[in-house]
Amino acid sequence: MNSNTNIPFLDLVAPHVELEQELTDVFKKALCSAGFIGGPMVEEFEKAFAEFCETKYCAAVSSGTDALRFALMACGVKARDVVVTVPNTFIATTEAISQAGAVPEFVDIDERTYNMDPAKLREYLETHCSVDASGKLTSLRNGLPVTAVIPVHLYGQTADMDPILELAEQYGLVVIEDACQAHGAEYYSQRYGRWMKAGSIGKAAAFSFYPGKNLGACGEAGATITNDPVLAAKVKMLRDHGQAKKYYHDVEGYNGRLDAIQAGILHTKLGHLAKWNFQRRDHSAEYRRLLKTANCGVFPPYEPSWSKPVYHLYVVRVENREALMDHLRSVGIGTGIHYPIPLHLQKAYASLSYQAGDFPVAERVASGTLSLPMFPQLTPEQQARVVQEVYSFNRATVSAEQVA
Ligand SMILES: *Cc1c(COP(=O)(O)O)cnc(C)c1O
Repeated sequence: MNSNTNIPFLDLVAPHVELEQELTDVFKKALCSAGFIGGPMVEEFEKAFAEFCETKYCAAVSSGTDALRFALMACGVKARDVVVTVPNTFIATTEAISQAGAVPEFVDIDERTYNMDPAKLREYLETHCSVDASGKLTSLRNGLPVTAVIPVHLYGQTADMDPILELAEQYGLVVIEDACQAHGAEYYSQRYGRWMKAGSIGKAAAFSFYPGKNLGACGEAGATITNDPVLAAKVKMLRDHGQAKKYYHDVEGYNGRLDAIQAGILHTKLGHLAKWNFQRRDHSAEYRRLLKTANCGVFPPYEPSWSKPVYHLYVVRVENREALMDHLRSVGIGTGIHYPIPLHLQKAYASLSYQAGDFPVAERVASGTLSLPMFPQLTPEQQARVVQEVYSFNRATVSAEQVA
């Protein structure tokens, strides 16, 4: 296969080449001021990102994992608390829980949205927890207090937040959104009667600016956003060794600050994010059209009426995943699996004592989904070729089955 017809899963070079001049200027500006960590470039980015997310405050930190850990700690999640989340996510979600000293517990996902199923959350709260006279919620698994829930807005689509907020209110849980894949995604809340940006719905939210995310730094970066000034101040202390004033440490904190260069780069790229997200949505519509026409046994993602996803990933449901992936690889098309092993079955969480079969939907999704190439600069010709190759693979498989 000729290399110039290869279609990468993700193209990180094109957007940076496109913005080379602006990004180089950021670097020069940082060199001239020698303000490398924190400072005005970080503060300006924080202001702009909070505005983009329609929240009041943003604390930029060194990664999405730190953003989530600091959000949990600032919200009062303590050591030996239980935090509820989903098994279909990147491990950073549960790492942040563990790093805050808490214990993750899982509820299954919705078969159509791939995100937290509010009915499963309700079932967990009603049948896997006890409530004492004071209203304190205790997990029956381990006898620990359940204090927070992290819905993950996976692949760029928000979880169904209204019923999650309602349950959280009823059971006194803090809601922290993992919006690390959902910069700019929107959710229509019946509760608030308006479209809301991912990250502006719960008590606080975490974003990652890992290079491959919809908004990515040229290195590691993240941010916590919130409408609560006290929470924002706490996150800013946690990221900076527990100090609000230099060498006056109110608590022990971390080194979780953001570099000025990364903040400047993110601020520049933020100016293009709405357009890039729009392009991703456009590509998703094109894939949907092509896949429907091809009728090749590959099912596009479900887009509920309350959701405006930003397609961080374009995840389709397939049969014969491994063979399809091999075929696409052999013709120069990159794909990915997000994620092959649900967290409750990862070796790292053997000590949580979950078993295969505990979260059947997450397990089915882990073995039957494939992420197709998705990035703003993807062309309609490339998309047509991806679907053409999926179609020919399917045709070959069907006729092989007929022969056998
Ligand atoms: C990327 C990601 C994170 C962690 O972000 P880092 O910046 O890599 O630390 C957390 N949760 C989800 C769902 C992610 O995709």
